[in-house]
Amino acid sequence: MKRPPVLKLVFGFLLLVPLANCATNPVTGRQNFVMMSESQEVSTGRKADQEVRKEYGAYDLPTLQQYVTTVGQKLAKMSHRPQLEYHFTVVDSPEINAFALPGGYVYITRGIIAYLNSEAELAAVLGHEIGHVTARHSVQQYSASMATGIGATVLGILVPELGSDLGQNILGLLGNALLSGYGRDHELEADRLGAEYLARAGYDPQAMIRVIGVLKNQEEFDAELARQEGREPRRYHGVFATHPDNDTRLQQVVGEANRYVLAKPAVGRAEFLDRSNGIAFGDSPEQGIVRGSDFLHPGLGFGLRFPKEWKIQNRPDRLAGINPARDAAVELTLIEKPQGAPADFLRRTYRLGFGSELGSTTVNGLPAATAVTTSQKGAPLFLGAVYLGSRAYVLKGMAANSHAFTRNRPDMLATFRSFHPVTDEERKLARPLTLKTVTARAGMTYGELARQSPLGKNAERYLRLINAAYPTGEPAPGQTIKIIE
Ligand SMILES: [Zn+2]
Repeated sequence: MKRPPVLKLVFGFLLLVPLANCATNPVTGRQNFVMMSESQEVSTGRKADQEVRKEYGAYDLPTLQQYVTTVGQKLAKMSHRPQLEYHFTVVDSPEINAFALPGGYVYITRGIIAYLNSEAELAAVLGHEIGHVTARHSVQQYSASMATGIGATVLGILVPELGSDLGQNILGLLGNALLSGYGRDHELEADRLGAEYLARAGYDPQAMIRVIGVLKNQEEFDAELARQEGREPRRYHGVFATHPDNDTRLQQVVGEANRYVLAKPAVGRAEFLDRSNGIAFGDSPEQGIVRGSDFLHPGLGFGLRFPKEWKIQNRPDRLAGINPARDAAVELTLIEKPQGAPADFLRRTYRLGFGSELGSTTVNGLPAATAVTTSQKGAPLFLGAVYLGSRAYVLKGMAANSHAFTRNRPDMLATFRSFHPVTDEERKLARPLTLKTVTARAGMTYGELARQSPLGKNAERYLRLINAAYPTGEPAPGQTIKIIE
């Protein structure tokens, strides 16, 4: 959640795209069943780009952004669709991912950048995404989901009320594939194409395998943490069950790029580390921080506790929690300078009539009001408004049906009642972490660095992971390494 206020998602324009034609695949030269011409593809990408920016926000570090664009454009010129106008964006997300939209829009999270160790590895991630664009994987995916009528509920949320707000946006229509991958064959094709573009742009294509190895290690580590913390693991979409060192098909497709390798491929380690110095690591306090079931927003000055086991979604324009059965959810939005007392504000904003159980209350000393009403679609809706500073925070509780609503109403109310001004202790917990480069002196170990690190009990493993020294490597004297402060 970012200030300022609530943005409404715009969607539905995809339905206007004229359907069905065949198009030549730029990579294979064969005809594919796709529903989009290239100009439709580009305009779809352009519109979806606005959704992604709203959903994630671009990362505000111009030197890094410029660097990623330069590397990306170098690869794009060597691709099968060099005439396409490409856009590369670093998104402000701690997730470890990269993805591409139709029409040449490529995104890389600041989260993944922390785990890379050279320009060649950055190029490998971007090259893989360019491969998805040139082979038109997202277009094919999109066409398939439109043709079969699936795709609308992609975020997997079963609450109809949320359908419009959380699920049915453009990312939803493009399918899970965007974030979770396209299946083994398309992923391997993207690796093959990415390796080719790497080699043609003057990098070593083996960087593709190195990068998948780093991400595989990270994924295994995160799966272990996720089990301990009772949350879902984070996955990079292109990583498969087999470790890349033992993955013969991957070795083979990347090996095909060797014929394009230049005499002295570039690595660009120093330059890359220099450009990524100072980036945020993990959640950023500007967006709010999730710690277990607690959400803390030091910037806006509030905290909120979700029911145990609920999945927390923190996006620039909203904060949401979804229950394990995925039939109930709460959503917190904020409104600047509300007029009148909380109860009046709720009554006016939601046109509440008699029978809406509207009542004034306080929440942890803050003026507040709650109501239960019926939404436009006829579903029961819990509403809570609480004032903090010059803002109103509105928590909406929704459910798939009235049974689910009754069952989850106590949790909705408890979530609302947990709203509180952030404490000094919480501010300390929410301190931002940043990545910094240092020169290793003789005898320095990751164990020693871990003891001075704010990363907690897993610090040593995190430090090895981000420095490609997992599981047992140590810094070499004079080597530039990354630490987290
Ligand atoms: Zn992929």
